[in-house]
Order: sequence, then structure tokens, then C-alpha cells
Amino acid sequence: MTKVIQMTRTGGPEVMELIDVTLAPPGPGEAQVRHEAIGVNFIDVYFRTGLYPQPLPAGLGMEGAGVVEAVGPGVTHVKVGDRVAYAGRPNGAYAQARNMPASALLVLPEHIPFETAAAMMLQGLTVQYLFHRTVALKAGDTILFHAAAGGVGLIACQWARVLGVNLIGTVGSDQKAALALANGAAHVINYNKENFVERVREITGGKGVSVVYDSIGKDTFTGSLDCLAPLGMMVSFGNASGPVPPFSLNELASRGSLFITRPSLMNYTAKREDLEASAASLFGVVGSGEVKVPVHQRYNLADVAQAHIDLESRKTMGSSILLP
Ligand code: NDP
Repeated sequence: MTKVIQMTRTGGPEVMELIDVTLAPPGPGEAQVRHEAIGVNFIDVYFRTGLYPQPLPAGLGMEGAGVVEAVGPGVTHVKVGDRVAYAGRPNGAYAQARNMPASALLVLPEHIPFETAAAMMLQGLTVQYLFHRTVALKAGDTILFHAAAGGVGLIACQWARVLGVNLIGTVGSDQKAALALANGAAHVINYNKENFVERVREITGGKGVSVVYDSIGKDTFTGSLDCLAPLGMMVSFGNASGPVPPFSLNELASRGSLFITRPSLMNYTAKREDLEASAASLFGVVGSGEVKVPVHQRYNLADVAQAHIDLESRKTMGSSILLP
């Protein structure tokens, strides 16, 4: 029997139930992965609450690292015994073992431990596409990045430093501010104490930034637009405080012909060659030690409710994992 988390309804952390299932053999194109570590991401909260709908009953979790135990017909690029990791659909990573489309699996370089992989795949691939593909950042750019001490945020701070990009981070506490600075942020604003729009204007000498990366959504959206220089790019990539309310396109014109995009990792890694290129880039900066992804919070799979409570109440910093 395999222990997995299942939801039969959406709601609070209590809807995640640990149940025993008999795992079917992997089907065509699938590999069976026994997890050594599982990633916890804010997107899991959106699926749990129903903000992102999915048919029920359903599993949860989009990121894991472990060993291939079996492969189904037609699988060629992974084999039994491979150390692998993944970030992607379908949900169901909150499990001791699972079947996964083999096309989503990446063979892990020897130097990357399972726990690091589970902490970094989804968040690291996200920073990779946000900084290299949504916008191709270059040395000297100044950007605003919200939730800079979160899982995605700490990787972003370090990757910005690698690229020579001045990252202005926002955070919710002084402890988080210190952590973001230590990880490479050029400036940090505690948005619970200071008006982040005014501070960004001060820091940039009134010019504003060329790109804002906003994963907070409802609470920061308008302020983020106000931080942009004319022709700047608003990258709205999450909704930790709630979805962005409808807005008029004139909001973009009146602030100086702004651009806006609402990207998703799934689109940027849908093609196998894009996934492999992004992963090679991520494995490169982690392998060189330029970006470090320590596990900041560890929970047993059975304690996943606590992991969600901590994430939603903004107690966590950096990445969280579950141990099966
Ligand atoms: P984080 O570790 O960053 O946790 C979320 C952080 O958001 C909190 O720690 C908190 O930091 C901040 N926050 C601000 N307002 C709220 C609120 N009302 N409730 C909860 N948190 C709030 O999570 P992840 O690293 O997993 O993800 C970061 C964001 O990136 C999420 O919005 C996620 O959905 C998005 N994302 C999007 C992807 C995409 O491709 N579009 C892919 C991956 C992630 P503080 O206390 O400092 O304010």
C-alpha cells in the first residue's frame, strides 16, 4: 500500500486526507516514482481552496524527487533506478509514490540531493523562465520582486545577483528583509512598515523600475503598476493575497504604455526541449553554487496540513518540503 493525500472537497487544510491506495502499474508513457522528498508550493493552496478548480476527488502537489521504480510501455528517456525530479501536472505529488508522465521527469545530476531537488524544481524553473524568457533581463536592469524571502523569492534574489540585476524586494517582516538582503537583493522594503510605491520611486530617483514581478495579486497589483517606468513590463504571476480584480486597459496607457503578462510555468515547459533547456540552466546555477536552495521547512507527509497553515499565514521563508 502507498500513502497519498487525497481531497474529496475544496476548503481549508483539513480537506487533505492521508489515505492508503494500491498503486497501479505505470501505464503507457508513465514512470512510477518512489519519492524521497516532495515540494510544497503556494499553487497547492490555490488547488486546495478551489481558486484553481480541478475534478474531485483529486491528489495535490506538483513537485517531487525520487527513484524510478517501474516504467510503462513506450518510455525511453528514464529507466528503473534513475534519480529523477519533476515540477508539473497532474497534481498528486503528495504521496509516497506515484505514476507520472515520464515526459515530465528529469534525471537529476549526482550533485543535487533529493531534498534540494524537491525544494528547487518548481520555484527554480519559475525564476529561470521569468528572468530569461518572460523578459530577458540584463546586467544593470532594476526590477521589483514581491515576496522576496519566499520560496520563489530567495531563488530570484540570488539569480538576480548572478545576472547583475538590481533586485528591489518586498517582504512582510524585518527577519525576512535580512534574509532577502543576505541572498542578493540590492534593496528590501518591508511593505508592512513602508509604502512600497514611494520607496521604489525614492530608490530609483523617481524613474521607476523596468519590470515588476508580482505574485501577491489583489493587494499589490495597482501599486505595482505605479512602480513601473514608462514602457515597463508588469509580470503578474500569482495571487497569494487573492486574484487580481478586473481592470481597465487604460490603466496601462495612463501610466506610460505599460506591458502586462500573466505567465504560467506549465506553458513555458510544455515542450520537452524547453523543459530540458530550463532545467539545464537551473542545474547549472545550482551546480556552480551561485544559487543555493536550502530547505527552510521540513514536514512529514502526514503533517501536510501544518505545512499549508504555515505557508498561508506567511510564517515560512524560502522553500518547504514534505518527507514521505
Ligand atoms: P512563498 O514562499 O513566496 O509564499 C507566499 C508569500 O507571499 C508569503 O510568504 C508572503 O510573504 C507573501 N504574501 C503576501 N500576501 C500574502 C497573503 N495574503 N497570504 C499569503 N502570503 C502572502 O510561495 P511560493 O514561493 O510557493 O510562490 C510564490 C508565488 O509565486 C505564489 O503566488 C505562487 O502562486 C507564484 N508562482 C507562480 C508560478 C507561475 O508560473 N505563474 C510558478 C510558481 C509560483 P511576505 O510575508 O514577505 O509578504
